[in-house]
Amino acid sequence: MTVSQPQPQAPIQAIVIGAGPAGLMAAEQLVQAGISVAVYDAMPSVGRKLLRAGIGGLNLTHAENKADFIHRYAPQVDKVGAWLQEFDADALRLWAADLGIETFVGSSGRVFPSAKKAAPLLRAWLHRLRAGGTQFHVRHRWCGWDDQGGLLFSHADKQMVVSAPVVIYALGGGSWARLGSDGQWRSRFIDRGIQCAPFRPSNGGFRYDWRVAFRAEQAGQPLKSVALALTRLDGSAWRKKGDAVIAGAGLEGSLIYAASAAIRDQIDQQGSCTVHWDLFPDKTAAQLAQVLGRRRAGDSLSTLLRRQLKLTGVKLALLKELSSKEQMGRIDTLPSLLKALPQCLTACRDLDEAISTAGGVEFDELTAGLMLRQLPGHFCVGEMLDWEAPTGGYLLTACYASGVVAGRAARDYLSERSDPIDNL
Ligand SMILES: Cc1cc2nc3c(=O)[nH]c(=O)nc-3n(C[C@H](O)[C@H](O)[C@H](O)COP(=O)(O)OP(=O)(O)OC[C@H]3O[C@@H](n4cnc5c(N)ncnc54)[C@H](O)[C@@H]3O)c2cc1C
Repeated sequence: MTVSQPQPQAPIQAIVIGAGPAGLMAAEQLVQAGISVAVYDAMPSVGRKLLRAGIGGLNLTHAENKADFIHRYAPQVDKVGAWLQEFDADALRLWAADLGIETFVGSSGRVFPSAKKAAPLLRAWLHRLRAGGTQFHVRHRWCGWDDQGGLLFSHADKQMVVSAPVVIYALGGGSWARLGSDGQWRSRFIDRGIQCAPFRPSNGGFRYDWRVAFRAEQAGQPLKSVALALTRLDGSAWRKKGDAVIAGAGLEGSLIYAASAAIRDQIDQQGSCTVHWDLFPDKTAAQLAQVLGRRRAGDSLSTLLRRQLKLTGVKLALLKELSSKEQMGRIDTLPSLLKALPQCLTACRDLDEAISTAGGVEFDELTAGLMLRQLPGHFCVGEMLDWEAPTGGYLLTACYASGVVAGRAARDYLSERSDPIDNL
């Protein structure tokens, strides 16, 4: 009878900390090159934010042309643009197809998996990574470095130190901490002398102190088919059509998120930002004036607005909330009020509530391959870097692309180390 001996395990050559899309993508580049990888994550299971994104259908990427796509990453167009040279929206769709996940382009150009879920994609991906030999260690929280530069982890109330020639930090941003990305890594990086820009909410809502009756009746109501306009800090005009949501504490929803970086920057610099709602984006002020001119004798203003303009529900309530009786009563200026109803915003909602965060490891700290200049062999990927983008699939695309860039650079770093002749 032959007794099978346990196979000696290859020493781990690369450690990935953080099992979100960016970290897993970096791990995949290494595994494909035959490099032994161990992935550590603080949570009891991996990819929690990716799975949460699946509740909204998992907007993987966007099908717009490359030039417009790259400009979604302003002001880091050059940096993120370089990642997209290596792995762009088309490459992401091919990668998903290779996992057995077909994608489709929605009417707005957003790209989703056909099943509009994240779980099948994550399941297939983890299966492939495990089959390639990736080790996973969940419930392992990275707590910093020891005096020799080893990685300190806490696990089951114990501390342990691990190390490898390559380390990839993929620790996420600073929002939705309950999904794992609590941003606590930032102070450890700063203590180590690595410059990190402060976290700021990105794609987040804003506070607004609604009157009690408005809040009671309208909180949770969608504000559909409106447009929002504002003047950016540089004086340029921003305007977009879409849907927002009246929240009890203020405003949220896709249209607000799209404007959120410009509103946030203005609040940061000037203390407030006035946005203008267009309640009739498909009509001109002249057309509205013409309709309002059909007022019948004895019609009250509300009846006029309801009957002639079909202005009801949350839109009518918003008009009443944001304007005075005198303003509403002036039929000559009412069309321009309906086209540009001002609302002054003074505060962002909490960082933790934002879909993503701006800020994080500054690009000056990194090589083009996303290696920390101060820590050779240590790379950073994903939302923990100092870039931001609107919703629309741009966040995930850049996270994946950064994982590809760093994973390949880490692979090359290891191969240079293992071939000393090449280093002469
Ligand atoms: C509700 C919601 C919906 C979204 N929908 C979309 C969408 O449809 N399309 C899109 O493009 N983007 C979407 N996003 C954004 C997108 O999910 C994130 O930008 C992306 O997940 C970031 O990837 P990441 O790998 O950088 O970080 P994360 O996905 O946040 O992963 C970081 C990982 O690091 C782990 N970690 C953190 N600290 C430690 C530590 N100290 N020790 C060990 N592990 C640690 C965390 O547990 C986590 O698993 C959504 C975000 C939210 C909140």
